[in-house]
Amino acid sequence: FFISLEGGDGAGKSTQAEALAEWIRAKGHEVVLTREPGATPVGKRLRSILLDVSEAGLSHRAEALLYAADRAEHVDTVVRPALERGAVVISDRYIDSSVAYQGAGRDLSPTEIARINRWATGGLVPHLTVLLDVPPEVARERFTEAPDRLESEPAEFHARVRAGFLTLAAADPGRYLVVDAGQEPEGVTSVIRHRLDTVLPL
Ligand code: C5P
Repeated sequence: FFISLEGGDGAGKSTQAEALAEWIRAKGHEVVLTREPGATPVGKRLRSILLDVSEAGLSHRAEALLYAADRAEHVDTVVRPALERGAVVISDRYIDSSVAYQGAGRDLSPTEIARINRWATGGLVPHLTVLLDVPPEVARERFTEAPDRLESEPAEFHARVRAGFLTLAAADPGRYLVVDAGQEPEGVTSVIRHRLDTVLPL
């Protein structure tokens, strides 16, 4: 069973990913908690290029392809093997992040971004995608003290990313759970658990 967690910067994805992993493990499942970009050795190198503020001039197409390369390596070496042995995989970000950031956020076509990522992943789609939706003003307060290259983008960029995620969710309500992530973390966790209770194979 494959779950992806999506949302803008500061939405609380990593906190929720950890809470969910713990809860699913307690039910007796093997859980692989992973993230993009940067879950593999090659991915870590790609992540450092992608997030380095000195790469401010990185071409948008090159950026999109580097995220797709990170994802291809992640799916081939971590996600697919885990799913094949029956583990529950929770990925902090997946394809929808690219469609929202490199597509809606930048000037690239979301359809084309989706297409290169379908190829990069061999068509692997999550069973459930949780979108942690938070207004950019709230998210900005949660940014770390040293913002990375993307966190340094202007508010309009983050607004386009948020709209991009919401468009994806509206187009595929069966796969998506949209949660208001402006509330307390415990509230967010319980909404996600409620949905998982109905879909997780036990
Ligand atoms: O979620 P995490 O903080 O690890 O993401 C690292 C950075 O990469 C974030 O600033 C996020 O905005 C950015 N990112 C991106 N495009 C993606 C995935 C992440 O710009 N496809």
